[in-house]
Amino acid sequence: MEISECKHKVKCDFYGCSNLAKYSFSTKGILKRDLCFCEECLRGMYEAIAKMQVPKSISSPFKLNKKLRREK
Ligand SMILES: [Zn+2]
Repeated sequence: MEISECKHKVKCDFYGCSNLAKYSFSTKGILKRDLCFCEECLRGMYEAIAKMQVPKSISSPFKLNKKLRREK
């Protein structure tokens, strides 16, 4: 799967969004056609993904802090 720039003038596939798609998400045959979405929706997805990954990424600094405290 890969994200590439959308070369066709199509509307964003996100429900309720009427922007022109800027990127297309190639599913290589998994879906009947590529998903197209605009920059705004890409950012929204990215933020949603980033939120999901926050607990994992902040756990390491916490461990590091504990380790530093123990060493003091
Ligand atoms: Zn959109």
